[in-house]
Amino acid sequence: MSVPLSQMVTVASYIVRQKLARRQRYPLVLMLEPLFRCNLSCAGCGKIQYPAQILKKHLTVEQCVNAVEECGAPIVAIPGGEPLMHPEIDRLVAALVAKRKYVYLCTNGLLLAERLALFTPSRYLSFSVHVDGLRDEHDDAVCREGVYDRAVGAIREALARGFRVTTNTTLFDGTSPVRMRAFFDEMMSLGVEGMMLSPGYSYSKAPDQEHFLRRTKTHALFARMLDRPKRRWKFNQSPLFLRFLMGKHDFDCTPWGMPTYNMFGWQRPCYLLQEGYAATFRELMETTEWQRYGHRSGNEKCQDCMVHSGFEATAVNHTFGSLRGFLETVVVTLTHRL
Ligand code: SF4
Repeated sequence: MSVPLSQMVTVASYIVRQKLARRQRYPLVLMLEPLFRCNLSCAGCGKIQYPAQILKKHLTVEQCVNAVEECGAPIVAIPGGEPLMHPEIDRLVAALVAKRKYVYLCTNGLLLAERLALFTPSRYLSFSVHVDGLRDEHDDAVCREGVYDRAVGAIREALARGFRVTTNTTLFDGTSPVRMRAFFDEMMSLGVEGMMLSPGYSYSKAPDQEHFLRRTKTHALFARMLDRPKRRWKFNQSPLFLRFLMGKHDFDCTPWGMPTYNMFGWQRPCYLLQEGYAATFRELMETTEWQRYGHRSGNEKCQDCMVHSGFEATAVNHTFGSLRGFLETVVVTLTHRL
C-alpha cells in the first residue's frame, strides 16, 4: 500500500466512527462527475455517449461542494469526462482541499502539464493519471497515438513540481500479464506514489463490446500479473481488493461505498449502471433497492462486474469489520505477498 499515513488515519478513524454508530451502509469515496465531455473518445468508455447539449454542460463549484457535504465521504474522486476541461476545476479542487477532503483528480493527462500552474501541491490532492499499459497498449486503448508520451510527460512535470501523482489503469481481455509487469516497473521508475487497477465494466454503450473481461478471465489475469509482486510496486488501493481480483476472496458489491453524483443527481445504484437518480444523498441511501444489485443478487448486469467502484469499499470494510480481515491486511502489507 502506498497511501500516505495521514490519509490512512483519516479513513480508518472515519470507518471506526461508522462502525461505532452501527451504520450498515456508509460512503467511503464520492465519485463526483462534474462534466461528461472529454478530449478523447476511448473504445471502452461508457461516459461520453451523451447528446451534445449534455456534453456542453457542467456542475457548478457550489453544486459540487454541496454534494460533497451532503455525502460526507472522506475521499472525493473526480472522474468525468475529463475534469481538467471544467472551467473552474481549480476553484473546485481548492474548495475541497480547504475542507480536508482527499481529492483524486482523474485525468487522461493531455491537459495536465499546461494546467498545473492552477493548482497548489497538497497532501489532500493527487492527480490520478489514466494509463492503461505500456505505450502501444495505452495508445490503442485510448484510440490515439502519442497519448502515452503526453501522459508520461505530464506525470514527470507534476512530480517535479511536488504534486502527489498516482495512476489508474483499466484492464481488458487480451491484456498480457508480462507486459503489465513491465508497465508496473515503468510507472514506479517514473516515481508515482502508487497505481490503481481495475478490470473494465462491460458498458452496453461502449463502442468496443468484444474486449471486456469476464470473471474467470479476470481472476486468471490478475493471478498471473500479481504473482510474487515486486517489492518496488506500490498500489494505491486495498490489498484485499487486489486479492479479490486474483480470486482469493469472494466479496460482493457494496455500491453505496462509492456513490456517484453528476448533473442528473445521485445515480442509482452505482457509478456504472444508470437506473434512475435520487434528488438527495439521503434519498439515494434510503430508497435504492440495494438487494437488487451485486453478484449474489442474480442481477445479470452484475454477474461479471468486479470493478473497484463496486468492490473496493467492500474490501476496506472487510479490513475494518473483522479481526481476520484486519490481520490479513497487515500480513499482506508487511510481507508484500498478495
Ligand atoms: S456489481 Fe457492478 S454493476 Fe452491479 S451494482 Fe455493483 S458496481 Fe454496479
